[in-house]
Amino acid sequence: MRVRVIAHDMATRKSDNFEMMRSGLNLIQQALSIYDSDLKLAVCNRRFQEMFNLPEELVTPGSPFDETIRFLARRGDYGDVAEIETFVSEKVEQALAFEPHYVERQRANGTTISVEGSPLRTGGWVTVYTDITEIKQQEELLRSHSAQLSDQLLDRSEKLAQTNRQLAATISALEETKHQLIESEARTRMTSEMTPAHIARLDRNEVYTYSNRRLREVIPDRSGEIVGLNACEALGEEAYRKIKPNLDQAFAGTGNVFEFDLGKGNRRVRVAFTPDFGPGGEVVGAYILSMDITQEAQARAVLMQTRKRELAAQLASGLAHDFSNLLTIIVGLQGKMERLPDLPVTAQEAIGTTKAAALRGGMLLDRLSDISGRRELTASAVKVDDLFDTVSAMIAATLPNSVSLEFINENVADTVLMDQGFMQDALINMVLNARDAISGTGAITVATRTRGTTWLEFEVSDTGPGFSDEALERGLDPFFTTKAGEGSGLGLTMIYDFAQLSGGRIRISNIPDGGACVSVQLPLRITTGVVPSGMVLLVEDTEEIRTSVRTMLRDIGHSVLEADSAEEALALARVPGVTHVLSDIMLSGKMNGLEMVEAIKDAGLDVPTIMMTGLPPQDPARKTAGDKFALLPKPFSQEQLRAVFAGLQP
Ligand code: ADP
Repeated sequence: MRVRVIAHDMATRKSDNFEMMRSGLNLIQQALSIYDSDLKLAVCNRRFQEMFNLPEELVTPGSPFDETIRFLARRGDYGDVAEIETFVSEKVEQALAFEPHYVERQRANGTTISVEGSPLRTGGWVTVYTDITEIKQQEELLRSHSAQLSDQLLDRSEKLAQTNRQLAATISALEETKHQLIESEARTRMTSEMTPAHIARLDRNEVYTYSNRRLREVIPDRSGEIVGLNACEALGEEAYRKIKPNLDQAFAGTGNVFEFDLGKGNRRVRVAFTPDFGPGGEVVGAYILSMDITQEAQARAVLMQTRKRELAAQLASGLAHDFSNLLTIIVGLQGKMERLPDLPVTAQEAIGTTKAAALRGGMLLDRLSDISGRRELTASAVKVDDLFDTVSAMIAATLPNSVSLEFINENVADTVLMDQGFMQDALINMVLNARDAISGTGAITVATRTRGTTWLEFEVSDTGPGFSDEALERGLDPFFTTKAGEGSGLGLTMIYDFAQLSGGRIRISNIPDGGACVSVQLPLRITTGVVPSGMVLLVEDTEEIRTSVRTMLRDIGHSVLEADSAEEALALARVPGVTHVLSDIMLSGKMNGLEMVEAIKDAGLDVPTIMMTGLPPQDPARKTAGDKFALLPKPFSQEQLRAVFAGLQP
């Protein structure tokens, strides 16, 4: 091909020096000649002269074509030519037709040449002669071995066919595998999208190389399209900072699972990192699975609280019953002593304090049980001022002189219905917390007010340092305390439970100018608080308790019928004029208090009933009693007894 182009150029530039063209053509391996349209030699190369062994005059430009043919024919180059002149004129005729042609011929010297003639655009033609003797010999050789070769060929082609078949089978297997891979990839992708979690992969540069579209379900304000982003861009500063140490751990080859809070603890997120190992065992990335577990964490916290409460309940229940009976006796005897004539003032004070302490002992005992289970509330008629007096008397002695305590009743003049024992205990707790918080001089204020017609509010504020951030967040959790060794962490929890149980609420906060504020709101229930006198059937098998309760009942204006067993009570129930039944739940004998009350009712006496008990709140009998009747936990004071009777009034 290249040869022809060169020849073409040579032929078109007629004015060029022949020698120059010739030397150019000499670089070509094949023999080459160019004749013009008059069949005169335009140019040829040295190889042309050598190949045909031509005399000088025949390779000189202008030499006629027929001369060269004649020379060669005579020399026998074309084999046996019968009539030389006829042969020459045939060749000349052929040449003048200027048809492109290709022939192979054997020369007299035994060599074989190919002759390829191509007409030139400008007239004349170029001929390229190639010595193909060797190729021809090889072909001959091949032909002579054809039998043997064809066997080999057959064998080979059979093998090829077999290989082809194997390849075809492999290809279809590959196709099938590819198909399955595509399907499995689609399934994996689908599974990953359906899984309610964010699933992703990070490379070693912390850039996302894969992510399903669920990041927003874990961190709502982030983009769903994060492939190509680095972890910090994708997750935001806060989340990135929190996962970084664990990500590093995964990059170091250790998978891990951890949880963290986001957005001021509004969300809890669980993340699992799995290192992605490359073929050489090196870590090339990490897979991440993260999910929002806020609800689970909340449920877990509630469960934890419940467990802690159950534990507290178990601890309390063993003690409660016997201990409360003892306290009831102490309170009763103190009440009796109070009424002795000509008592010196100091003795009066001592008796008052002992009584208050015994009542508080009962309350503390109860509190442990209270936070453990749904204690039933016993609503009674309460005057807030009386409540404040009681709390003041109980607490004043525990405050240092440097801390002042003020009670402010803003507008609660009416008698209200509430569980006095609980409320009293709540206020004591709040005041003691305020006292503990104040170091040095300070002031505590206990205020009460109604909020509209719906709420009755008690608020304890102090001038201490206020709640710490952690206490603001966790202060209501059971057992959360910052008073190492001294606090139980149950005070605010108890108040929280009480508020919840009453249908109210508790709020802990800090006052902008400094100091803490705890406010408890209860549904406002106003009552007349008048207790009309009546005849009470008192059923109690412990004589000391029966005696002191009888005194209390008489003091609040009732006449009393006493029974120390269910059987005796059933007999007394027939006495006309009985207005109330006040009975212990546990009675010696065949019937307990509850069964006895049922029997009395069956006998035709259906009057308001109050059950006293020292049983712990979770005791089934106490629960049944609380569901059906007013409940009075032991020990109790005369005021509490009066309040329960007032609460029974419609
Ligand atoms: P305890 O008093 O046994 O620690 P509480 O449930 O009553 O248990 O209180 C929990 C925590 O709340 C306290 O340990 C304290 O850190 C914080 N706290 C309660 N009241 C106040 C207050 N008035 N001022 C500052 N912190 C308080």
